[in-house]
Order: sequence, then C-alpha cells, then structure tokens
Amino acid sequence: MNSEQLIALDQAHVWHPYASMDNPPPAYPVASARGVRLQLTDGTELIDGMASWWCAIHGYNHPHLNQAMHKQMADMSHVMFGGITHAPAVRLAQRLVDITPQGLDKVFFSDSGSVAVEVAIKMALQYWHARGQADKNRLLTVRNGYHGDTFGAMAVCDPVNGMHTLFSSVLPQHYFCAAPPLGFERPLVDADLNELEDQLQAHHQNIAGFILEPIVQGAGGMRFYSPAWLRAAAELCKQYDVLLIADEIATGFGRSGALFACDHAHLQPDIMCLGKAITGGTMSFAATLTSSHIATTISRGAASCFMHGPTFMANPLACAVANASLDLLAENDWQTQVSGIEQGLRQHLAPAARQSYVEDVRVLGAIGVIQVTEPVALVRIQKMLVAEGVWVRPFGKLVYVMPPYVISADDLRLLCQGMLRALERYFAS
Ligand SMILES: *Cc1c(COP(=O)(O)O)cnc(C)c1O
Repeated sequence: MNSEQLIALDQAHVWHPYASMDNPPPAYPVASARGVRLQLTDGTELIDGMASWWCAIHGYNHPHLNQAMHKQMADMSHVMFGGITHAPAVRLAQRLVDITPQGLDKVFFSDSGSVAVEVAIKMALQYWHARGQADKNRLLTVRNGYHGDTFGAMAVCDPVNGMHTLFSSVLPQHYFCAAPPLGFERPLVDADLNELEDQLQAHHQNIAGFILEPIVQGAGGMRFYSPAWLRAAAELCKQYDVLLIADEIATGFGRSGALFACDHAHLQPDIMCLGKAITGGTMSFAATLTSSHIATTISRGAASCFMHGPTFMANPLACAVANASLDLLAENDWQTQVSGIEQGLRQHLAPAARQSYVEDVRVLGAIGVIQVTEPVALVRIQKMLVAEGVWVRPFGKLVYVMPPYVISADDLRLLCQGMLRALERYFAS
C-alpha cells in the first residue's frame, strides 16, 4: 500500500481522536519511530515534540523496553488475574509503592488512564459507603481539569471546555470550584482558596473526594500552579473529611521536574492515578494506588471487596515493560534529563514572548507552552509544523511540547525553532 492509498483508506474507515468522519483531514502516515524521530512513509523525518501525548519518555524503539517485552512474550503475553498472580505485576507494584508518596501501598492495575480514574472514584465512593456515610457520594473538582473520556471521568472534566453540555442529562452532577491561579511560583493569598473552602463548607457531607491534577492541568488548559495552593487545598480536604485524589496520569514519572507532581508539595494523597508514561510509551496501562486504611475499610464494607476487575488487569507484557521503564528512569537520571530540557525550553521559547500573537510563554519541567491570542486552525498549522520538520499537535490557543526525556540539546533547539518559525508563518498569512 502506498502513502496515498493508506491515507485514503484511513479517511474512509478509521476514526481518530476527537475527529469528524465527515470529510476528515488527512492523517500523517508514520512508518516507524526511533529515539526522538518519527519517520513518515514518504521518508520525511520529524522531531517528536509530543512524546505521543506524554508517554514516550525514553524515546521510541528503545532496546531495553523492546527486550523486556520480547523476554516476557516468551513466557506469556497475558494470563487472567483472577486467582492468579505473576512476578512482573508483583515486582511493579512493589516498585510503585516504593517511589510514590508515603502511605500509598495498595495497587490496582488497569488498562488506561480513564479506567484508573473510574477506579479511583469508585474507591472513594466505596470507602464512605463502608463507613456508613453513603451520602458522601459526590466529587469536588477544579475548573479546567481533564481526567479522561469515560462517563465517570468526563463528569469531573471542565464543564465548559469538556463534554458536559452534550451529555448533561446522563452525567452525574458534581461540585466545581475555580481553577488554581496560574503560576508555579505565585505566592498564596487567602482569597485563592475561598471558593474551594465555600464548596467544602456547604457540601462536605455529600463530598467523597476532591479530584485534581497536581501542579499541572494538562488537556484542560496546560496550566501550572503552585505547590503552596496544592498544600493548602489538601489541608482543607483533611479538615472537611474529604479524600484527596491526585490524577498524576500526565505528570507522573518526572515530567513536571519532580518524580510525581505531588512531591513538589510533599503531599501524600489518599488515592493516586498513574498512566500514560508508565510503560515508557509502549503499551496501554494504568494503576490506581491507595492507602492500607482505605483498602481495608473498603474490604470490610457491605461488598467485602472492591467492585472492579478488568479482563486485561495487570497484563504481564505491560507490567514487564513498565518495570523496564522504571529501570531506565533511574539509569538515565531523569532529573538531569528533565532539568536540561527545562533550561533549553526556557532559552529557546523565550523569543516567542515578543510576538504580538503570543499571550503567554510558560515552562515547567519538560513541558513548554506557547499560548497564542486566538485558537489556531489545526489542519493549516499542522502542515506548517510538519514542513518545519517537527511533530507538534496544538489545541485551541495552546501550542506546546513535552518531548521525550532523551532529546539532545541540538534536537530540542531545532524543535523549538521549528515551532516558532511555523507560528510566525501561520500568523503572517
Ligand atoms: C490522558 C489523561 C487521562 C486519560 O487517560 P487515557 O489513557 O487517555 O484514558 C486522565 N487524566 C489525565 C490527567 C490525563 O492526562
């Protein structure tokens, strides 16, 4: 099949994320990927700025990850998890318990981030049910959040830029408060938490948990906020007897400059969701962690167990490659990699701030964001970015990168310069 046939058949039959099937835009056919480069079927090479949506932190086709999967495949690719266990899962659970904030020592494996969020929500509800407080069955969250596309997760996404209006008749109704004010280093003032405290005060008897993305709000706006706000919010949750659910699906494994974004605030959440980079970008996999206290309470409730169990739970292939990804994080010294990228992004994105079409430039860890003054036309700007040799996928007013941690200083410079040139061309025409 040549590239044209591939694109035509794709447009005819294959649905893409948040895509129309009515005259869909052509997708770029990728033949292979290695390191930080995607190779298109026509031979074009693109420097990858997206890490496949936060996932491919060690770059593509990494021999250590490939080897782990090959080795595991020779033993078993999958086996059911009901009544059966295996070394890759046990080893991974132990390692996740070791590296995540203190107190999280029970691990529930699932197959995607959205499911990990569903599991977290269910844990919070079952916990209060088991404690005889079944009225604590709503959630509280902040605006501009993103937690996934399934129904439970969707109901705690931002009510405006999320999918609430379309599905409002079937979505569970939760409580919302203002998004944390922008700025990682912004000093905290009392008013910053007013709305959160008002909601807790008014509704805590009905609130099971407060769910949010710590420090970095991802798909809901690429917003960074301060550890001080997060710490103060966590204090309020304790005060009002509300569980804290940290969705670290995007931020986990070093992306924000701390191994977990909660670590910026020395925070110990009650429940934590992991996904995306957990397998180094190779397989769909996720985990939800909680404390012994919550796990035990749930298990002593009416159901005597936690009511969830995916078919592909703790898939051995995914567990094996997740273990290998943890090896690489340690071996490659993720902290040095991420702080190098942070420095490079600050340097190479800074010139964008002088452009009239740029509203804000912000960098945290290995995440760089250019916010422009008007939403960009995706198809048109995508073409210009590809012409510059970079793979960047903007949404709305946000043109942003979160490259693989293994990107070299030169490639990072090329990535940023390509992005800036494409923006210049876009806004000149
Ligand atoms: C991507 C994401 C999810 C959903 O994960 P999927 O694997 O796409 O289901 C949930 N929460 C956050 C913060 C995410 O970035």
